[in-house]
Amino acid sequence: MFNVKAYSAASETSPLSKMTIPRREPTEHDVQIEILFCGVCHSDLHAVRNEWVEFMPTVYPIVPGHEIIGRITKVGSAVTKFKVGDLGSVGCLVDSDRTCKECQAGLEQFCPNNILTYNSPDTHLGGVTYGGYSESVVVDERFVLRVPSNLDPAAAAPLLCAGITTFSPLRHWQAGPGKKVGIVGIGGLGHVAVKLADALGGHVVVFTTSPDKKEDAQRLGADEVVVSRNANEMEKHAGSFDFILDTVSAAHDIAAYLDLLARDGTVTLVGAPPKPLAVPAFSLIGGRHSLSGSAIGSLAETQEMLDFCGEHNITADVEVIPIQKINEAYDRMLKSDVKYRFSIDMASLRDE
Ligand code: NAP
Ligand code: ZN
Repeated sequence: MFNVKAYSAASETSPLSKMTIPRREPTEHDVQIEILFCGVCHSDLHAVRNEWVEFMPTVYPIVPGHEIIGRITKVGSAVTKFKVGDLGSVGCLVDSDRTCKECQAGLEQFCPNNILTYNSPDTHLGGVTYGGYSESVVVDERFVLRVPSNLDPAAAAPLLCAGITTFSPLRHWQAGPGKKVGIVGIGGLGHVAVKLADALGGHVVVFTTSPDKKEDAQRLGADEVVVSRNANEMEKHAGSFDFILDTVSAAHDIAAYLDLLARDGTVTLVGAPPKPLAVPAFSLIGGRHSLSGSAIGSLAETQEMLDFCGEHNITADVEVIPIQKINEAYDRMLKSDVKYRFSIDMASLRDE
C-alpha cells in the first residue's frame, strides 16, 4: 500500500479539499497510472452532494473522478497490454464479476457486481473505491483503455465517460445516415454527443435552453439548433425524430421530446436527474414511441469509441483547471457556465 494526494468531500455539504488516500501495490494484472488529467462529470457533483441517495447513496469521504488519463508508471508481472511509459485511461468501471451473463455478453456496465471507479466497495483495501481526483490510481489492465496518440490528453479525458455514454446509445439505436437525431442539452455529454452524432452521419438537431450556445452547437456539428424554451421552434419538429438522446441533469419536460418522435421513435435518457420525470401515456401510445435509458458502455465499446475518436479527431472542448478550482467549477457547471467540460490538470495536485 502507498499513500497519494487526492481531493475529497467529507459530507454532502462539504467542499472538496485535499486528503491522503491509500492505493494498493499493483498485483500481477494491475497497472499503476500517474494521472495527468481527469474530466469533471456532472455525476461527480450528483455523487458528492448525495443527490442520488435513493439509488446509490454516497459513502464519505468521497474522491470523485471517472474520466482519467495518465502515464503508466508500474505494471504487474502478468500485464500484457501496457508497458511503463504508455498512456492509459480509465472510465467509470474498474472491475466486474466476469462470470455473470452480462459480463459473458461483454456488457460489463450492466454487471450487477461491477465496481465503479469511486463509491463502490473496494475489494482489495476495504472501504470504497476512490476516483480520479488524485495523483495516481491502480487498476486491473482489463479495465484500462488505450488512448490514440493523436488526441490531446486533457481534451480526450472526458471521452472516458461523456464520450462512451453518448457513443453507446447512438450506436445501439443506429443513429446514422438517413436518421433524424436530437441531442438535448449542450453540456459535457451533449457537446460530445453532437460531435459523435455528426461523425456517425445522422441529421443532428440540438435542443438547448441556452440561446447563447446556438453558434457553438453549429460549430460542433449540429445541422439545426432549437431553443427548447421556444414553443414555436419546438412545434416545427413535431412527429419527426427517429431518435433523441437526452443528456439533461435536472428536472425537465420529457414529454416535450416524446412528442417530437416519429412513429416508432425512441427517446433515450442518459441524463440522470435525481427526481422522477413525468411521462404522459399519450406521449407514448400515439406513435408507438419508446422511452429508454443507457448507462456508459462496455470496455470493448469504450475502446471502439476511443479509436473512432482517434480516426475522426474528436475530443471534448475543455477548460483546463487546477484542482484548487474544483469547488468553483462545480458551481459554474450548475449554471451551465462551462464550454463544455472542465478537465483537471493533475500536476496542480502534485505541486500542492
Ligand atoms: P452538464 O455538463 O452539467 O450538462 C447538462 C446540460 O443539461 C446543461 O449544459 C444544460 O444544457 C442542460 N440543463 C441543465 N439544467 C437544465 C434544466 N433545468 N432544464 C433543461 N436543461 C438543463 O452535465 P453532464 O456532465 O453532461 O451530465 C449530464 C447528466 O448525465 C447528469 O445527470 C449526469 O449524472 C448524467 N450522466 C449519466 C451517465 C450514464 O451512464 N447514463 C454518464 C455520465 C453522466 P443547455 O444549456 O444546452 O440547455
Ligand atoms: Zn461521468
